[in-house]
Amino acid sequence: MKYRKPKDSDSDYSDSDPSMMPPQNSTPFYRQSWFLPILLLMTILLWLQFTPSNNGKDKSPKHSDFLSLSPAELKDIISSEIRSHLISKSVELPKQGEFKSYPPVKVIPDQDRLRICVTGGSGFVGSHLVDRLMMAGHHIIVIDNMFTGRQKNVAQWLGHPNFQLIIHDVINPIMLEVDQIYHLACPASPPHYQYNPIKTIKTSTEGTMNMLGLAKRVKARMLLTSTSEVYGDPQISPQKEDYWGHVNPIGPRACYDEGKRVAETMMYAYESQGNVEVRVARIFNTFGPRMHPNDGRVVSNFIIQALQGKDITIYGDGKQTRSFQFVDDLVEGLIRLMNGNYSQPVNIGNPEEYTVKEFAELIKGLTKSNSSIRSLPATKDDPKQRRPDISTALEQLGWKPIVPVTVGLEKTIQYFRKELEESGEITPTGPNASRPQNTMRHSED
Ligand code: NAD
Ligand code: UDP
Repeated sequence: MKYRKPKDSDSDYSDSDPSMMPPQNSTPFYRQSWFLPILLLMTILLWLQFTPSNNGKDKSPKHSDFLSLSPAELKDIISSEIRSHLISKSVELPKQGEFKSYPPVKVIPDQDRLRICVTGGSGFVGSHLVDRLMMAGHHIIVIDNMFTGRQKNVAQWLGHPNFQLIIHDVINPIMLEVDQIYHLACPASPPHYQYNPIKTIKTSTEGTMNMLGLAKRVKARMLLTSTSEVYGDPQISPQKEDYWGHVNPIGPRACYDEGKRVAETMMYAYESQGNVEVRVARIFNTFGPRMHPNDGRVVSNFIIQALQGKDITIYGDGKQTRSFQFVDDLVEGLIRLMNGNYSQPVNIGNPEEYTVKEFAELIKGLTKSNSSIRSLPATKDDPKQRRPDISTALEQLGWKPIVPVTVGLEKTIQYFRKELEESGEITPTGPNASRPQNTMRHSED
């Protein structure tokens, strides 16, 4: 007779319910379908019994004791033995006298302490936001799937009673009790968001929908980190919030641009139909420490290339423009927007505009590098000009950037120097650049 693979229901037979008993027949027990799996489990059990950790003092039942048990009872006993064996092997208790110190946290009255969820909180921007909110004394729950985030960005808070890191993908729903949600989860650099476009779209659409559902259920205020990319390759400059944009819906940037556009649409649908309090920040290019070294964005690429004396790679003729803000300014803008009364989209960026070529020269000068500047082919749909009109932020939030670009760049250069010391050589761009973490492309996306 051929061995039959047990069905799931085979393990559900119960002594107390006769209708659930295996059918009676005259087949010898060693030819029954349950015999082989049980034999295997008993062998594991015997092996566990005679490992040195038992020390001969174990009072567990003997081999013969098991012969009278039902398959279900045996399975329960064996799995609990395996569990306790594994736990005893893997848990290490903290050694006495080992304490971790944390950055200073403001002590605030309980009624003022908010429970704040930051999705994407172990990424570049998210981790700086978490620092500010933690230090203000709030309780922070970070949700991140670690696609482009790094645990080291929030390591300073691990174990703090006000801090929780939940490894979770926002395309799946989550139940939490929170007062505010900063929804940042989404890869932001072109190589990262184009790496798995389907996943990027799902993150912006299903992910935002899930967080809005949560916000609606618990009556939390929610802020979306949208982007200047909603303006696409803009035909006006500077870009003001009432500009509808110029986006190619099927180009390589569309998964991100259109994803964020529909995320904005969802925010306002949930505001009007679901009474959710929403805030939308349209963020312009931001830089600073904790940018991912393989991010592929212009600031990290140029600094890493310059520090290693490698060619600084300009895509296209370098006449395209960007305006760069330091991350501390952005975080201040996000917190003001979340806690203010204005619910329409707000540009948050530094209007100081550079051509990419000028920017390469600036980085080369600040790093005192001998790198050459090399032109590579332009990337498709690369916006030609980008500069925010920030009059809304000034009027509604009293916000404007205060960190000069060169001061921010010095801090960022210092950070990348340290990253290079720790990691050795970094290839930030091109076919040999390393991929984002945990991103083996698989059919599920
Ligand atoms: P980042 O890639 O460093 O951070 C994104 C974080 O989201 C990472 O920690 C990543 O692991 C996490 N994440 C991605 N997909 C997720 C998913 N499905 N579930 C859970 N977590 C997920 O990028 P960043 O620069 O910190 O950007 C943060 C936010 O700001 C993004 O929403 C981005 O679109 C927006 N933004 C940033 C810039 C900028 O210049 N940095 C500009 C415009 C908009
Ligand atoms: N860029 C470049 N060389 C690089 C990386 C980027 O010339 O190594 C250019 C890119 O083509 C774009 C600008 O720098 O015009 C900003 O690119 P980034 O990826 O930082 O972000 P984007 O604003 O395009 O989303």
